[in-house]
Amino acid sequence: MNIAENLKQVLSELPEGVRLVAVSKFHPNEAIEEAYRAGQHVFGESKVQEMTAKYESLPKDIEWHFIGHLQTNKIKYIVPYVALIHGIDSYKLLAEVNKQAAKADRTVNCLLQLHIAREETKFGFSPDECREMLAGGEWKELKNIRICGLMGMATNTDNVEQIKAEFCSLSSFFQEAKATWFADAEYFRELSMGMSHDYHEAISAGSTLVRVGSKIFGERNY
Ligand SMILES: *Cc1c(COP(=O)(O)O)cnc(C)c1O
Repeated sequence: MNIAENLKQVLSELPEGVRLVAVSKFHPNEAIEEAYRAGQHVFGESKVQEMTAKYESLPKDIEWHFIGHLQTNKIKYIVPYVALIHGIDSYKLLAEVNKQAAKADRTVNCLLQLHIAREETKFGFSPDECREMLAGGEWKELKNIRICGLMGMATNTDNVEQIKAEFCSLSSFFQEAKATWFADAEYFRELSMGMSHDYHEAISAGSTLVRVGSKIFGERNY
């Protein structure tokens, strides 16, 4: 497994305007350092403890993205340094991030996670739940968070047409949300979708952030 080569390959496939989050979860610091030396400075992690340990021991100019399911009692550990939280799936979680961000005297960038897959198990708002939350307007009072866009995961399937349809539905909801609630917010511009097996479809559908792990670092042992 040559991490630098894999990284170069993935980067060469990304059009302008699409950024790579290298998903390093369950891989050791050495793997991250190899990608870092090859020029990658944005990494994604899904466990609070693991991300915080890596943040503490790795170069400080790394941009850490939290892509997992965030528990409210752990927000405080990542809020001082996290660059973007991808998986906000309730108003309660957003409000709690805001509270901890205020304590840390920061503004924390967040993405709202939409449930687009057919599987029951994936987290996220349904489009209607998300509309209701945004229309409610309470989030506008949360001064220490910034909603920078949306995130979603397609169904884990070989059916490419289904994957495309799910990404397109997220993309059109993104356009709707942008026009309805964030027309004047230049920061509302991120659409986080696409993983190792489906990032090409995600890019075709308008992704701005792809989260690629195993294609760069190899299979995870967990
Ligand atoms: C693990 C993970 C990824 C990366 O998955 P790969 O298939 O290894 O590319 C992307 N997004 C989320 C939310 C993940 O949990």
